[in-house]
Amino acid sequence: MTLIGHWIGGREVRGDAVRTAPVFDPARGVQTAEVALATAAEVRDAIKVAADAGRAWADSSMSARANALFRLRELIHAQRDDLARIVTAEHGKVLDDARGEVSRGLECVEFACGIPHLLKGSHSSQVSTGVDVHTLLQPLGVVAGITPFNFPVMVPLWMLANAIACGNAFVLKPSEKDPSASIRLAELVSEAGFPDGVVTVVQGDAEAVNTILAHPDVAAVSFVGSTPVARHVYETGTRNGKRVQALGGAKNHMVVLPDADIDAAADAAISAAYGSAGERCMAISVAVAVGAVADDLVDAIAARIPEVVVGPGDEAESMMGPLITREHRDRVRTYVERAADEGARVVVDGAAGSPEGDGFFLGCSLLDGVEPGMRAYDDEIFGPVLSIVRVDSFDEALDLITTNPYGNGVALFTRDGGVARRFEREVEVGMVGINVPIPVPVAWHSFGGWKASLFGDSAMYGSEGIRFYTRPKVVTSRWPDPASSVIDLGFPTTT
Ligand code: NAD
Repeated sequence: MTLIGHWIGGREVRGDAVRTAPVFDPARGVQTAEVALATAAEVRDAIKVAADAGRAWADSSMSARANALFRLRELIHAQRDDLARIVTAEHGKVLDDARGEVSRGLECVEFACGIPHLLKGSHSSQVSTGVDVHTLLQPLGVVAGITPFNFPVMVPLWMLANAIACGNAFVLKPSEKDPSASIRLAELVSEAGFPDGVVTVVQGDAEAVNTILAHPDVAAVSFVGSTPVARHVYETGTRNGKRVQALGGAKNHMVVLPDADIDAAADAAISAAYGSAGERCMAISVAVAVGAVADDLVDAIAARIPEVVVGPGDEAESMMGPLITREHRDRVRTYVERAADEGARVVVDGAAGSPEGDGFFLGCSLLDGVEPGMRAYDDEIFGPVLSIVRVDSFDEALDLITTNPYGNGVALFTRDGGVARRFEREVEVGMVGINVPIPVPVAWHSFGGWKASLFGDSAMYGSEGIRFYTRPKVVTSRWPDPASSVIDLGFPTTT
């Protein structure tokens, strides 16, 4: 069985491999490899390699960093299909979707290519007679990224590109469920000419994460994953004096107003709820039907579900692949099985739409009459299950979203610009789509939810990413004309 190892000092290393975890092809339900789970000692050794490399890298020139980033951009672009195949083989999402993930990750590398401009700092001339002030944006040292299974290329690139562009050494702890993409990315980083140790990959589980959180040489931690682990990472990391941004889970609503184009709204609901089998933190899991629109919306969505071809991600006709593990597929199924007992109506049961075989498949499910208090509403299901909540008014829809503990993404479907404007100003969610179902910001904005979807005060990538991976230093300097030098014991004031 192939063993997927770590990436330390510019090469793949097997490590002790005293503990391993299985890696599956979820479309066929068979184990394809095993991944090494780093021990605490191995993580500490890897951090030492990163810290040593980081010292020299922090001193590298802007043009050296930009040139390496441009080369990385070209390499990832050229290897897009290869990376997508790796994602599909271990995650299961369909190839087109995997290619889309690589493209969105690539955007972050393209953004970071502008690092000379992004790190310009600021300068004030003559703040006092003969005195100037300028700001340096300096790297932190070693920064770590801990990432989830659902975007094994894009989410690491959200962090990696800005982290190394800012002059840090980056240590990635990817999900143990689909670890191969991280090694391929690290190879490309090396090929692009980044010095050994600037990017490190340690495969592992909670032991590796907790070692990173305790290590004094790790200055900052970026985390993306479920809310309970995000909270743990945030609390432990900040207690240990680290800068932490921890993005958690989600329950994303899509509000459909009576004036919306029903066909467009139904197409959007299908795409956003069932794309990547619902395993996206920005997936729509609740459609909030306002007033008379509900029956038509439910009918339009139900009519489209049979069009969604469920099958292996590497087969051209497949539109939706399997879930990540058998256990997760079975857990998602229980939400549909219990929905009727809780008072909801099962319009479409995904179990009936699952292909034969051992793959971890589940077809699209649609639940109507769902309400807060039902498990299908309260929990993040993270699978292909769309719940319809019926409300009487726009205000009721807004209130539902405001009282929800999560605040990652939200969408409004309407033709009314005034209502849309009020919605975007009042809704308590970090990323808002107006007639756009999955409003993942482009790389030169930043990604982050509100409430239980983000712990910390900094969103990911874009200008927030640059701020997160640097610390400012303010230099006040005087270069007086030696002829005018005098002794003055007073407190410095501007003159
Ligand atoms: P997860 O929380 O189980 O795992 C995320 C990472 O944490 C992995 O690297 C894992 O090895 C590690 N980990 C798991 N349990 C741990 C523990 N007890 N202690 C320390 N580390 C631990 O998440 P997942 O199942 O890989 O990903 C799905 C979740 O990620 C969903 O909740 C989804 O909403 C969320 N997500 C959020 C965003 C966002 O931007 N907000 C993006 C993608 C995914």
